[in-house]
Amino acid sequence: MPTEVSIVRCPDYDQKTVLSSVRRAADLLGGINAFVNPGERVLLKPNLLKARPPEAAVTTHPEVVRAVIRLVHETGAQAMVGDSPGIGDLRRVCERSGILAVVEQEGAVLADFDEAVTVNDHTCIRCGICQSHCPQKAIADLDNKLVINYRNCIRCFCCQEFCPSGAITVGRGWMLNLTRS
Ligand code: SF4
Ligand code: SF4
Repeated sequence: MPTEVSIVRCPDYDQKTVLSSVRRAADLLGGINAFVNPGERVLLKPNLLKARPPEAAVTTHPEVVRAVIRLVHETGAQAMVGDSPGIGDLRRVCERSGILAVVEQEGAVLADFDEAVTVNDHTCIRCGICQSHCPQKAIADLDNKLVINYRNCIRCFCCQEFCPSGAITVGRGWMLNLTRS
C-alpha cells in the first residue's frame, strides 16, 4: 500500500510558525482527524538519539513535537512521546533536547520504550481483558500462561491500565538494568 507524505517549508522554529506549518502538513493529508479519534492514546516518536540541545539538530526540535502534541490533543486524544535513545537515558535526553519541558507544558505523557510489561502468574486471573485491549495482539496465552511478544509490543501500557487484578507491572527489563547498572 503506498504511503502518503506531506512536506511543508517552515522558515524558523518560532512556535506559531511551526504550529501553522505542521497543521498545514496534516491538512494536506486530510487533517489530523483523519488519523486520530477522541479518546485514543497516540504515540509520537521523535528522534531522541542522544542528549544534545535543540540547536545541535541531533534530535527533533521541541517546537515540532509541541505542534504535533497540540494537534493530537485538539482531537480529544492523549499524546504520548517516547523513544529508546541510542545513547543515554530517555529522561536525560528529553531534558537536554527541550522535549521534556514541552511534554510537561502540553500535558503529554513520556513513554520509555526501555520499560517492559510483565505478567505475574500468581495474581493473574486469566480474564483475557489485557489481550482484548492490546492494540498489537502482543499477548498470547500459551499453556495457560500469558506471554508478551516484545517485538510487537509498543509499550502503550493499555494492558496494565485495564488489568482488574494488578497482575501487570511496568519496569525496566533485566537486560537493560544489567547494561546500565
Ligand atoms: S503494553 Fe500495549 S502493546 Fe504491549 S502488551 Fe501491553 S497492551 Fe499490548
Ligand atoms: S487482564 Fe490481568 S488478570 Fe486478566 S488476563 Fe490479563 S494479566 Fe491476567
